[in-house]
Amino acid sequence: MSITKTEAIVLKSIKFGDTSKIATLYTKDCGKIKVIAKGIRKPKSRLAGALQTFSHIQIVFYKKRTSEIYLLSQSEIMKSYQSLYKDLNRYVFASAALELLDRLITGEESNPELFELALATLSFMERCPQGSMEKSFCSYVLKLTHLLGYKPKFERCINCNKQVEGKIVLFSPEKGGIICKRCARPDQAYLRLSRDSVTSALKLQSVKAEDLSTYNIPRKHLMEISGVILNLLDYHTGRGKDLKSLEFLKTE
Ligand SMILES: [Zn+2]
Repeated sequence: MSITKTEAIVLKSIKFGDTSKIATLYTKDCGKIKVIAKGIRKPKSRLAGALQTFSHIQIVFYKKRTSEIYLLSQSEIMKSYQSLYKDLNRYVFASAALELLDRLITGEESNPELFELALATLSFMERCPQGSMEKSFCSYVLKLTHLLGYKPKFERCINCNKQVEGKIVLFSPEKGGIICKRCARPDQAYLRLSRDSVTSALKLQSVKAEDLSTYNIPRKHLMEISGVILNLLDYHTGRGKDLKSLEFLKTE
């Protein structure tokens, strides 16, 4: 058995037994793990309140070789992101961001940059203007895709490296980039992006989370870009599409 101390983001948690909880955490140093917090639901538990979704926490846990679920011994809240619970739109997009992370990360491989991206995104989503949620989510999805090794190419044709002309641009989820009409094959499936969405995607790939407020991108383009990237992730991992957290938006 070994003792590990690290920072984590709470992706989700469920009640277990009479007084315990099992939580899925994305940690800075150990990737995604599951922990059990015994007795956390007792009123006087020192862990009380520390496993709420979105929370950035500092934890100490024990690794047992025989179990896939680790024992949480300490948990201290660094930031709880409570404001995300007070506004439905913020809640929906922040939930979608963590749901995607939960789906795409399968093991205990550390990726501190991805951890920092998730934290910066929660932080921006908590305080950004109301109309910026789609932009924040879209920027997050693009950067997440990059950090997982599937960075989409929007500069030139993914096949021949020439400029791609036209108002409507084809995107290949298989190859992970835009493709010109000469290279497109009739037996392949492509997604369609407007020229403005391609320009916006390039902009979003380079801008830092804290500078997002300064860019104004129409909602239509943001939804188009997010859709294309989720398709790309789904093509390569089988786990990118149909986020439950975003279903609410479709019924509006
Ligand atoms: Zn080409």
